[in-house]
Amino acid sequence: AGLPVFKNEAFTDFSLPVNQALMEAALRKVKAELGRDYPLRIGAERIMTGDKIVSVNPGNISEVVGRVSKASLGLAEQAMQEALNSFEAWKRVPAAERAGYVFKAAQLMRERKHEFSALMIVEAGKNWAEADADTAEAIDFMEFYGREMIRLSLTNEHQPLTKIEGEDNRLAYIPLGVGIVIPPWNFPLAICAGMTTAAIVCGNTVVLKPSSLTPVIAHKFVALMEEAGLPSGVINFVPGSGAEIGDFLTKHPKTRFISFTGSKEIGLRIHALASHTADGQKWMKRVIAEMGGKDGIVVDETANVEQAAKAIVASAFGFQGQKCSAGSRAIIVEAVYDKVVQLVKEETEKLSVGLPELNCPAGPVSDRQAYDKIMDYIEIGRREGRLLTGGDKAEGNGYYIQPTVFVDVDSKSRIMQEEIFGPVLAIGRAKDYKEAIAMYNDTEFGLTGSFFSQDEAHIHYALDEMFCGNLYINRKCTGALVGVHPFGGFNMSGTDSKAGGYDYLLLFTQAKLTSRKT
Ligand code: GLU
Repeated sequence: AGLPVFKNEAFTDFSLPVNQALMEAALRKVKAELGRDYPLRIGAERIMTGDKIVSVNPGNISEVVGRVSKASLGLAEQAMQEALNSFEAWKRVPAAERAGYVFKAAQLMRERKHEFSALMIVEAGKNWAEADADTAEAIDFMEFYGREMIRLSLTNEHQPLTKIEGEDNRLAYIPLGVGIVIPPWNFPLAICAGMTTAAIVCGNTVVLKPSSLTPVIAHKFVALMEEAGLPSGVINFVPGSGAEIGDFLTKHPKTRFISFTGSKEIGLRIHALASHTADGQKWMKRVIAEMGGKDGIVVDETANVEQAAKAIVASAFGFQGQKCSAGSRAIIVEAVYDKVVQLVKEETEKLSVGLPELNCPAGPVSDRQAYDKIMDYIEIGRREGRLLTGGDKAEGNGYYIQPTVFVDVDSKSRIMQEEIFGPVLAIGRAKDYKEAIAMYNDTEFGLTGSFFSQDEAHIHYALDEMFCGNLYINRKCTGALVGVHPFGGFNMSGTDSKAGGYDYLLLFTQAKLTSRKT
């Protein structure tokens, strides 16, 4: 009652000088605060450790963003105990009150949105619009999940029960327990905030292990939750090594669920570890995993080729292709192949590469390891296809790679099959739209896809046959909006948990039926 209906946070128009000035001011503020030390947050304690994760600006590797305390196994255990203790009180806090903290945090973030975005510009290497969209999505997740929990908590609102004479029957969605939240670095605010607030708004408590590439923005989010008045111990912040404390927490007998977004390899590892029953464990652990993609755009002969080419380039190279939704493949029918390829080349070559804080359209990739892996895939691409543009590193004191396109690539080739997670697009040729869709489906993943056509029959065929969690027609395959495009994929893309959707919170709750004689 009294709560405005959910509406997506508007993106900032940086063509307006007033908004440019606001972002520049936010960047100056963030820059003045670089290089600080950050603690773990376990219950009410802030713990500085000697061992630190050093977060570096991928666009200027001489710049240290911050040094974040690193949890040992002992501290991870302490965080687990704190989360277990806090759960006893937190689960009894009424849903609307839990949501209230999340709404408060959303409001505070909205008031300082450019500051959050500016930190992602320097810590993750996002350009202004990408960072702004990340912050907007974080706000959306909080506003959306808060409302969703209130809706779920209203008796019999979610699924009205069949009524019978003489009984009052109710279904309540109660929390699970302690969850381990392991978000990725590529949406280091939105997905971190979304996964964490979804879990806590349901009455769970969490141990949050941020990505080691973006722990400073994660710390800023956790500090914001504290500022919003969230009781201590509901979110326990333990940066650290995935192999060490990630595994330890996943295997812990008191862990009730693990919410993960990241690579297929780590997702499968978590799934395997979580399937073991530890001594003293009383439940089957729940795993919610959003993993990779090898998403693609299919273009038929009736398509608007200019729009298709623009969408292919935006989907492939937005945030340097470092999205699980990235359109790293394009499959084009013969009749328009040369035309679309030519337009893709022109559009790609407009993307100048450079420092994110100067708002260059193409920035760095995340780190040395990613850089090496992507450069290896570019070498593989040279053998598997014809280089259309790019193909080399780019200038700068960071992990810069030219937006790279290979054409005439066979759909069985490695660059058509394996997730590269970088600015590399593979284009393949099909004789007609049906063959193109079959090529699109020839993947172990199934996250996003797009189909460009103006033919109703072709579009209907695509709607039925393209096998992915998020299928778009005549638009790019990235940029799902909370509440509008619930996001999640099939097969090796994960558990299709549909973040930002109306079913998502069910994953963090269990339903208790009570039946009372009247
Ligand atoms: N939800 C984002 C999108 O639609 C992608 C999220 C991800 O890469 O994990 O582009």
